[in-house]
Amino acid sequence: MYKVGIDLGGTNTAGGIIDEKNEIIERENLLTRHGCDPELIAADLARMVFRLAAKVNVSMSAFDKIGIGIPGSVEGGIVKDANNIGFYDVPFAGMVAARTGLPVSLINDSNAAARGEYVAGSGKGARSFFMLTLGTGVGGAYIYKGDIVEGCNMAAGEVGHMVIRVDGRHCSCGRRGCLEAYCSGTALATRAREAAITNQYSLLNKLSENNPSAIDGKLFYKALMAGDKTSSQVFDEYMKDLTAGVVNIINLLQPDVLAIGGGMSGVGSTLLNELIKRVQPEVFSLHSDTQTSIRIASLGNEAGIIGAV
Ligand SMILES: [Zn+2]
Repeated sequence: MYKVGIDLGGTNTAGGIIDEKNEIIERENLLTRHGCDPELIAADLARMVFRLAAKVNVSMSAFDKIGIGIPGSVEGGIVKDANNIGFYDVPFAGMVAARTGLPVSLINDSNAAARGEYVAGSGKGARSFFMLTLGTGVGGAYIYKGDIVEGCNMAAGEVGHMVIRVDGRHCSCGRRGCLEAYCSGTALATRAREAAITNQYSLLNKLSENNPSAIDGKLFYKALMAGDKTSSQVFDEYMKDLTAGVVNIINLLQPDVLAIGGGMSGVGSTLLNELIKRVQPEVFSLHSDTQTSIRIASLGNEAGIIGAV
């Protein structure tokens, strides 16, 4: 039997057919329609499932279920609150099930990505696994013996809102000094822009043609790799904050594996090597032979498709 996994995003939707080895054998992407009736989005997803079936030449009876990752909170088959796609209290699983004739389950998208990495990627074989996502925001999910640790509000693991600097930068959640306010991709770009304004002769200014607002993660990384001093200082400060956050997570949970996912994981080995070097001497159990293995998430956006089922 096959399963269908769908990652319903605010901008893009990716779906795939997953075989019994948790591998994607066929996939498809489409743009998520904006601000429309959830019934229309359910219809888009159902059509995608029919197209996927046709691509691998099977009937719908070859699928035993559909799993959908949702960018928001879900409860059973209901999307409680997903402001990126404008769903509030929408019985979305039923809408897709009615059109496909298949059982449909919903899962939060960060949890889906963590699950995908756990069963088929960087966390494969681990007993306990923490996925730290450094993207537009900072997200987290903790899996222990195969189960997502949900907490009493289904939001355990949201380490983006752990304070690493008391009275620090304002965060989108209303508090100050959160990890997200320092270590998201967005925060890194902000820090690079601020540094460019105070260091007018940096390569950041040259590459952005003296327009700091044009500095994004990509441009920053280019300047960093070229040896720009201002960028190196920004990266050093960023790594100090990220290290504080990662050490806090390790001291609290001591996962077998901690994987870094999201857009920032695209800088791969630079970030990983530096992080491992800084975290090791800081963790509480530094003299133990057993240490959390820090890795880069390996499945990219496929994790969300695999983890949705
Ligand atoms: Zn916060």
